[in-house]
Amino acid sequence: MRPFVLVLSSPSGGGKTTIARSLLDGREELGYSVSATTRAMRPREKDGVDYHFVTRAEFDARVAAGEFAEWAMYGGEYYGTLKAELDRLASEGRTAVLDIEIQGARQIRESVAGAVLVFVLPPSGAVLAERLRRRGTEPAKELEARMRRAAEEMAEAGEYDYIVVNNDLVSAVSAVAAIIDSEGRRVRRLPSLADDVARLKAEVLREAAALAATSPT
Ligand code: 5GP
Repeated sequence: MRPFVLVLSSPSGGGKTTIARSLLDGREELGYSVSATTRAMRPREKDGVDYHFVTRAEFDARVAAGEFAEWAMYGGEYYGTLKAELDRLASEGRTAVLDIEIQGARQIRESVAGAVLVFVLPPSGAVLAERLRRRGTEPAKELEARMRRAAEEMAEAGEYDYIVVNNDLVSAVSAVAAIIDSEGRRVRRLPSLADDVARLKAEVLREAAALAATSPT
């Protein structure tokens, strides 16, 4: 299977990061695209694992150098997918999983042929608010801003290729896994299809000939 780019978007607190991480667990053919960001590191986050944490000046310099496949501003901070990260995953033959917001998803759809876009919806507003509160990583004012932005982003979900409702982690992960498996079976992503079919055809014809030789006339 030829690797591709999978974009996972959802409002903040919608669960896409957890889904992306569970999805990648034990699936060697997938790789997480580690974004660069100017936002502050949260407790339990690791530089180079969750994000490449960079200064504003460094981010600006990398934008100017054309190092980003896409970038956007979110909550007053910059976030972007490095081309080098996508190249690394492609050279490893892995499908890249991008956990990015909608402006970035639009840029990837325009620039990366065959990219697959999945939007993860929360089951309800109350569940989304509760997940954000429980995460406890943002002050109250920022929570309100994220909820308002969530309302705007969800209105754009129709631009994506697939929708997954995150009722519970296990079924959301298996829904995204099913999308990846189906997309991987697309004819255009099977580079050896012509050779495989030619081989199969020769085998089938050999079997047919053998049958003809043994069947009574
Ligand atoms: P958080 O600060 O909660 O980690 O992320 C805030 C938002 O930025 C989330 O919607 C997340 O998906 C998005 N984000 C993370 N990395 C990137 C990126 O590289 N590009 C874009 N456009 N958005 C990103």
